[in-house]
This record gives sequence, C-alpha cells and structure tokens, in this order.
Amino acid sequence: MAGILTLVPTPIGNLGDISPRAREALANADFIAAEDTRVTLKLLNHLELHKPLISYYEHNKAFRGEKIVERIQAGENCALVSDAGSPAISDPGEELVKQCADAGITVTAIPGPCAAITALSISGQLTGRFCFEGFLSTAKKSRFEHLDALREERRTMIFYEAPHKLLNTLEDMAQVFGDDRPVSLCRELTKLHEEVVRTTLGQALEKYRETPPKGEFVLVVAGAPEKPREMPSSTDAAARVRELMEAGLSRKDAVKQAAQELGLPKNTVYAAALDEEA
Ligand code: SAM
Repeated sequence: MAGILTLVPTPIGNLGDISPRAREALANADFIAAEDTRVTLKLLNHLELHKPLISYYEHNKAFRGEKIVERIQAGENCALVSDAGSPAISDPGEELVKQCADAGITVTAIPGPCAAITALSISGQLTGRFCFEGFLSTAKKSRFEHLDALREERRTMIFYEAPHKLLNTLEDMAQVFGDDRPVSLCRELTKLHEEVVRTTLGQALEKYRETPPKGEFVLVVAGAPEKPREMPSSTDAAARVRELMEAGLSRKDAVKQAAQELGLPKNTVYAAALDEEA
C-alpha cells in the first residue's frame, strides 16, 4: 500500500510553536524531505527525534520530487518541512503536492505557523478579504508589472521581504500605491524583538531611511480605497431621456428607464427632462 505525504509546519522563530501533532507527524514519518537538512536536524535534535532526511529545495526539486513520489508509492510515509513556517507557502512544496496528488497519493497538512497569517491577524488592516503576494521579483520590470497589476486591488495585500531589500520595496510600493497608503510592517514575529509598525508607505520610508531595517518582515498593505462613484448630472439625465424618446419611448417610460440606468430617483430625472424642454 502507498504511503502518504504530510506537510509539517515548523516554528517561524519560537521553538515552542511546534505543535504536538507536528511532532507526531515527524515521529511517524519514514523519512523527512527538508529544504535544508542542517536546519531540520537542529529541530529534530530539539525534539529528540532521529529520522532519515533527504534534501528537497528549489534547485533539486524537479528530480528529487520524482524520487519522493516513488518512495511513497513503494509504501513509505514522507513528512515535508521547510526551514520555517508552512511548506509550499513561498517555500518548496507546491510542485511536490501536485506531483503526489497527480499520482493518486494522499496529501495531508498539519496546520501551524505561517508568517503571512500571523502578520495579517495582528496588522490592524482589514482581514475580511486579503491576497497573498509573496516576494516581489528582484528584476525591475517584473517587479513593476506585479505592483501595477495591484494598483486597483481592494483587498488587503500581504508581501514577504528580506531586510536588505525593504527600502527598495517600500520606495517602489509608494511610487505605485502612493505615500499615503497604510501599511503594517510586522517584524521578527514570535521572536524576542517582535514589532508591528502601523504607518503609511511614506512614513515607513522615512523611518527606515533613518534606521536601517533588521530582521524578517511581512508587509501588510491596505487595499486601494473605494473611488467615490460619480453621480450622473441632471444634464446626463435629460440627455438620456431625450435619446430614449427619440428612439420611440413615451416620456413616462423614458424617465423610468433613464432613472433605472443612472441610479437616480424618477422625480429627479423627470424634473431634469422638463427643465430641458422648457
Ligand atoms: N513558508 C514560510 C511561512 O509559512 O511563513 C515563509 C517562507 S519565506 C522563504 C520567508 C519569509 O517569510 C521571510 O523573508 C519573511 O518575509 C517571512 N517571515 C518568516 N519568518 C518571519 C518572522 N518570524 N517574522 C516576520 N516575517 C517572517
């Protein structure tokens, strides 16, 4: 019988965040596929577990994925871990999940630490609708294509960023979203120096130009504000009534239809039509 693939989240800073189920999943696995075996070995030592490890990372995932699928099909259970947080979220795993699912292998995940969700929950931004945008590309062209595509995005946006690229990213975001756009910079989550700076892109830029950023960051950026709807004027209303009457409608029907189309009260449209005729 085939084994299963289990995605196991690991702490994003505080070792106390490893859950009993995550530990159990690691203990029950026949082997662990790890982004960096040295990082995972430290965690296993902390948990007093001894397990065979194989590396599964960005540059070997294509051929290593096939090998992992073969081993699971042969009956072994595999636990997948990344260096920190939830595998497959801006970390290796996405392709392995697809490969296993395509091969009919059961894939399951233990819920647990994820920097994006931890940051969003304490950001103070709207959490009802959000989108995860991961890392911006380092290539200027695709970076601006990505940001441009988000210009009108109304949902709260979550980005990952490394400290040495933060200033650059804030500058580019301010250029596209505007200096006034609210942002929460969530730093060193679950660690000793955890901090949330709730400010605007412009003010964040000033702050980090003065004091260079340190530690790991999640940026939670407010969505674009709703544009006030432009109310149609009485001239628009009168013009539409005239058009409809010229097309053969009675004044009563033309007023009714124009009011519906323009979202205006019938009396207002009627008064506008009469004014124009007077
Ligand atoms: N899979 C991971 C997860 O579930 O959060 C994310 C891995 S991604 C390669 C690493 C990025 O996550 C960092 O560059 C940073 O943006 C964010 N991150 C990870 N740990 C963090 C922490 N303790 N505080 C703030 N951001 C963190």
